[in-house]
Amino acid sequence: MIIAVDGPAAAGKGTLSRNIAEAFDFAHLDTGSIYRATAKKVLDNGIDPEDDAACADIARNLTADDITSDGLRTEAVGQAASKVSAIPAVRAALLDFQRDFANTPPHGKAGAVLDGRDVGTVVCPEAQVKIFITADTEVRGERRFKELQSAGQNAIYARVLEEMKERDERDSSRSVAPLKPADDAIVIDTGKLDAQQVFDQALEIIRSRQP
Ligand code: C5P
Repeated sequence: MIIAVDGPAAAGKGTLSRNIAEAFDFAHLDTGSIYRATAKKVLDNGIDPEDDAACADIARNLTADDITSDGLRTEAVGQAASKVSAIPAVRAALLDFQRDFANTPPHGKAGAVLDGRDVGTVVCPEAQVKIFITADTEVRGERRFKELQSAGQNAIYARVLEEMKERDERDSSRSVAPLKPADDAIVIDTGKLDAQQVFDQALEIIRSRQP
């Protein structure tokens, strides 16, 4: 079974996907980490995130270690990820890895949960379950701000909010694989729900789709 969880920044995709993967003993792939890892290598190598050919080259040579490396979750890397991920050749280079993970999950798991922006629309349009989670920008900004603070990073709320808006706008308006719900996705607004309530709604959707 393939479960796609898409949505904008700080909507709660990671928490929901990890909870689903744990409950069903499925594999989980945070597809954002692949774009973040590409972006971090681009920055570390002094490459311009808008240099299409050089960024695609980095994406093609990404290793498993890069995806789990430290320092992926900073705002600077998130912003750069949003720039490199708008490059069609970068997306193309990362597509097979994501599809292989979904179709042949590691450790022989019976299913995979992938979270990102275009899992339900482009990566796995055949996914049996597609959930699009979202919340008001202010709610998400607040969440991301608290996340950064508790990770010990020096954050300013107004700046976090501004950068998140900028990133969402870029992700939604790009020409390839823009952030948007698949036609057959179920949308959950997580603004007034806690993680358990979001999980409960997702469980109902998944159970209704199980053979
Ligand atoms: O989800 P996360 O915030 O870690 O993603 C970082 C960036 O990677 C996003 O802002 C987006 O530009 C890009 N991304 C993407 N497609 C995905 C996952 C992430 O373009 N499937």
